[in-house]
Amino acid sequence: MNNLSNFEIPSDVLDEIQNNIQNIIEGFDIPEANKMDVIKKINFMYSQTKQMSVTDPLTKLFNRRHFETEFEREYKRAKRYNNDLSLAVIDIDFFKRINDTYGHSCGDYVLKECAYLMTQNFRQTDTVYRYGGEEFAVILTETAKDSACIPLERLRKRFENYNFKFNGESFKVTLSIGVSSNTAFDTYVEMFDDADKALYCAKNNGRNMVKQAIEKV
Ligand code: GH3
Ligand code: MG
Ligand code: MG
Repeated sequence: MNNLSNFEIPSDVLDEIQNNIQNIIEGFDIPEANKMDVIKKINFMYSQTKQMSVTDPLTKLFNRRHFETEFEREYKRAKRYNNDLSLAVIDIDFFKRINDTYGHSCGDYVLKECAYLMTQNFRQTDTVYRYGGEEFAVILTETAKDSACIPLERLRKRFENYNFKFNGESFKVTLSIGVSSNTAFDTYVEMFDDADKALYCAKNNGRNMVKQAIEKV
């Protein structure tokens, strides 16, 4: 459902806005000395807006729209140059129970803590996104199937051993993870669906596990 809080301006539109603003200000009847200040202020506001358009406000991770843009680019790059690429889709297990047992603000705390633990876990060249409610995606560049499992399994174990603490309550959270390293599809959407299918396989096989997508030969 679309509402104002979900409204996002595509970055190419933002670029056009910035150019237009600069053109308008240059034609303003204000002292030349002040023009630079106005342009700087508007540029600052513009960068803030641009940052907001790609960021999830709760976790401060990149949002789904940015994921789509970046993943499409990485997928095309990997195909073109025959580079390795892996995509992980991560879903918190039984997250609804956390909201129902400890309240929605505890759920929000868990999401923020998850985002922190995830960003700590991966290489700087890998990027974590909040894909949806309690779902995350990680693009692992230059990473083949076997290498992808190492940080993902490490993340799964980190969660298994981690004690979440909120308002004096201590509890555990586990993750189910699906991963695809197959770039032989026509589009990035199919690679995403491949990782998503692996995630559902992890859910159906008992959760708290990393599942590789099955490679078709
Ligand atoms: P499963 O193991 O099958 O994934 O079960 P689950 O409970 O994690 O999945 P389900 O899809 O049933 O529930 C997801 C819950 O996530 C329901 C929704 O209210 C909650 N949720 C989504 N976004 C947010 C959010 O921003 N904050 C909080 N606190 N909860 C959220
Ligand atoms: Mg889910
Ligand atoms: Mg879930």
